[in-house]
Amino acid sequence: MDNEINKNISPIKLLADDEPPAFEIVNTTGSSQFVLVCDHASKRVPLCLNNLGLTDEQLDDHVGWDPGAAEVARLLSKNLNAPLVLSGYSRLVIDCNRPLQSVQSIPEQSAGVMVPGNQKINEEERALRVNDLFHPYHNAITELLESRKNRTTFLLSIHSFTPVLNNQQRPWNIGVSFWRDNYFAKKLITALSQSKDIVVGDNEPYAIDAEFDYAVPVHGEARGLPSAMLEIRQDGIRSVEGVANWAGRITQACLQIK
Ligand SMILES: [Zn+2]
Repeated sequence: MDNEINKNISPIKLLADDEPPAFEIVNTTGSSQFVLVCDHASKRVPLCLNNLGLTDEQLDDHVGWDPGAAEVARLLSKNLNAPLVLSGYSRLVIDCNRPLQSVQSIPEQSAGVMVPGNQKINEEERALRVNDLFHPYHNAITELLESRKNRTTFLLSIHSFTPVLNNQQRPWNIGVSFWRDNYFAKKLITALSQSKDIVVGDNEPYAIDAEFDYAVPVHGEARGLPSAMLEIRQDGIRSVEGVANWAGRITQACLQIK
């Protein structure tokens, strides 16, 4: 593949007319009290960015997206009749779960992988990614939440995590994370922990930090909504059966929450 990224051409928009939009929204008017978001649903890179100089194998790995997360989120949306917003592009183009001022917003490297297409990008290039990907995705979530102002809403952000990081095996099958308000997360942890065959992370494998996370602090807590981030270990959701199993477990846990 051609790893050359032509820095001389500055497109006026990031996405060609025949490329998928920045986000997808499913089940907009679903009756559920849950609203689901999936920030790392896709490994797609806009054509004009030439795979960011990475191979397809690199983009397919966990640095490019959250494998399996979109499938679980879609099934959960169906099971619960819950609205779901999914990001349409790779986190390496711009990470929709990072504040724009974060150094990880457009990462020059991620988990040891250098991203050629993100090295020293200029303000125009950055603005294109912000305006054509980040803002449309988050505006869709804002609009959805605004439309439900008079309804009970629990915001659940769906992610997946790699079984091994920095040579460390991670023991949790699933984890629930919270920021300052743990109301929703604790209920979810209690409900998931009723299954004795799994290990449920309590603010593991990641704790939420407003400097590095976006959905829960901004769409959740800043709006006064009970909110949590769900992380599912990727080896459990590699197959259709695995996705169905985990979507089923999470559905049963969510149905216990009031
Ligand atoms: Zn993620």
